[in-house]
Amino acid sequence: MRYPKLRELKEAIRAIFKGPYTQDFPRKPHKPFDRFRGRSEFHKDDCVGCGACFQVCPAGAIEIQDQGNIRKLIVHWDLCIFCGQCQANCLTQKGIMLSNDFDLATTGDRKELKQEIEKEFLLCECCQEAIAPRDQILWVAKRLGPLMFSNASLMLFYNQNLDLASKSSSIPQKEDKEFLRSDRVRVLCPRCRREAVYKS
Ligand code: SF4
Ligand code: SF4
Repeated sequence: MRYPKLRELKEAIRAIFKGPYTQDFPRKPHKPFDRFRGRSEFHKDDCVGCGACFQVCPAGAIEIQDQGNIRKLIVHWDLCIFCGQCQANCLTQKGIMLSNDFDLATTGDRKELKQEIEKEFLLCECCQEAIAPRDQILWVAKRLGPLMFSNASLMLFYNQNLDLASKSSSIPQKEDKEFLRSDRVRVLCPRCRREAVYKS
């Protein structure tokens, strides 16, 4: 006759009084531990659309689509490997975060396992090229504080958001290529800024 090991006997007696180690899932919802890495989710109010998460994602699970004045950021959960690089390298630290949600099973199309958010670009008032997402520029301006006043585009855009300067739409778009000195005080992309400074 083989006797149970003392260690197993101890665990069995302990389980009688303390209950089993396993959980009653799926009858009762499972609560993962705090640092569990689950579904990665964009938080639109905290994301500024910089694209750093897209750059560092090793699985190619984050996609960026720039169309006109809109940047679309998409996280594909069917490709995500839950490494946490996007969260660790997020510019704002809160734009994308891994949640505790582990239940990604679906009977539908796996391509539908995704989340999309959109960010609006700030456009150059001369050539209409996208400069960067508006939220990103505002974030930079706030981080720089008074130093932002050394950059005309930053200063103007920041003041526009405070209704202290005319919005872009109320300024006539520049169509000719002749830059005037006054063009320096406009929201410009780096290329138009260089031309405006050089030619005026
Ligand atoms: S957790 Fe890793 S794989 Fe998933 S989206 Fe973030 S960086 Fe990409
Ligand atoms: S703010 Fe964060 S989540 Fe948003 S695009 Fe930049 S790195 Fe990604």
